[in-house]
Amino acid sequence: MRPEPNELQELVRDLHGQGSAWLPAGLGSRLDWGPPVAGPCTVVSCAALRGVREFNPGDFTITVAAGTPLVEVQEALGHHGQWLSVDAPWGDRQSAAAGSIGGLVARGLAGGYRQRYLGVRDQLIGLELMRADGVTARAGGKVVKNVAGYDLMRLFTGSWGSLGLITELTLRTLPRPPLRRSVCFQGGADDLAGLSRWLLGSSLSPERIDWWNGSLAAAAGLAPEPLLLIGLASVDAATLQEQVRCLQERSTLPARVLDAATTGAWLAHARGATAAAPTWLLRLGVSPDRLETLMQAPDLAGLAVDMAAGSGLGLAWTGTEGPQAAVTSAQVLKLRRLCTQLGGHLTVLRQPPEAGLPAWLDAPSRPLIEAIKRRFDPAGQLAPGRLPGVAQRLSTL
Ligand SMILES: Cc1cc2nc3c(=O)[nH]c(=O)nc-3n(C[C@H](O)[C@H](O)[C@H](O)COP(=O)(O)OP(=O)(O)OC[C@H]3O[C@@H](n4cnc5c(N)ncnc54)[C@H](O)[C@@H]3O)c2cc1C
Repeated sequence: MRPEPNELQELVRDLHGQGSAWLPAGLGSRLDWGPPVAGPCTVVSCAALRGVREFNPGDFTITVAAGTPLVEVQEALGHHGQWLSVDAPWGDRQSAAAGSIGGLVARGLAGGYRQRYLGVRDQLIGLELMRADGVTARAGGKVVKNVAGYDLMRLFTGSWGSLGLITELTLRTLPRPPLRRSVCFQGGADDLAGLSRWLLGSSLSPERIDWWNGSLAAAAGLAPEPLLLIGLASVDAATLQEQVRCLQERSTLPARVLDAATTGAWLAHARGATAAAPTWLLRLGVSPDRLETLMQAPDLAGLAVDMAAGSGLGLAWTGTEGPQAAVTSAQVLKLRRLCTQLGGHLTVLRQPPEAGLPAWLDAPSRPLIEAIKRRFDPAGQLAPGRLPGVAQRLSTL
């Protein structure tokens, strides 16, 4: 259902009155990721909640309706030389249908820009939401420094629609860096790990440090060897050049210096072309100092892998055809065990229908997560069976 703003509360109250299960949605681009929702469920889309409600360029804040496409928000900010420091939606970078700002926050999955700008939750300073019973609430504010109310922003970031419907968001914006360059190094895992370690401890402050495996490099039309793609930004050309020079001097590997347009084309080609509807899509996380071990794991065979070296978080996915589709459930289970041993986790975002793996495992804080869920949604109407940090019982699959 796609209610107009003035119809939303009545619809939610009706669903509450009937005891019906429902799923908050943005533009519906990735509703199938993660655990399947258990049983019949009404999808309530925010697509009609659209537009910039308030923009204060001088304060570097913007308030938008939750269903507004990220692309539209970036466009509005771009006219003032500002941006929201998050990646373009994964898998499809340009289209307005590629993802809403509410969906982005509800998933809470940051890409490589997290290296310099932190995660999605760190951009969020205020939130308006509707509970399962139709009651509306507001948290935070519209200025960067505020201490108003509970920090519901962090609770709702990554809540996957399980706690309530986000209707409006206030976010922190940043001046868009006028100058960008990337430096790419291809070589063995040892060399890349050494360079990445040095970089993370250096005074350089890259925007992103993406570590690709050989399969992903090949998908972007490069030699099938692992690479580090280091994104740099500055307001000053001499400073940027100095950073590039430091990197070139540091490594014995040949460096390729790319302008922003070429970097964008590489990213679009590697992610967009190979990732339209991957059979497997995995979210991997390990302790950053163990990333080198993960990147050499035999169980990554058949997967394109893009990890952020600073956070140890990233994605692995298969193509839709050819030998890459041969990744098995047993292989993914082994990878999950490895990620856990390396201090992290593995979330299954997409999998073949017959695989039947739990999307995520129980978090140590499961009792607390369930207690919060009961407070927000006592009747369990929202996104049934899909509560982050609580493994889905396989009987409900
Ligand atoms: C590693 C990684 C990094 C990513 N980084 C980015 C990024 O930087 N930028 C980006 O745009 N996308 C990013 N994505 C994709 C992003 O996470 C979302 O999947 C996408 O933005 C969904 O948009 P949508 O409007 O189509 O949401 P939908 O597909 O409709 O919904 C997605 C999820 O959010 C919930 N949801 C949606 N809207 C609301 C709402 N208003 N209130 C409560 N719950 C809601 C739904 O229940 C569902 O669980 C990334 C994905 C991954 C895996």
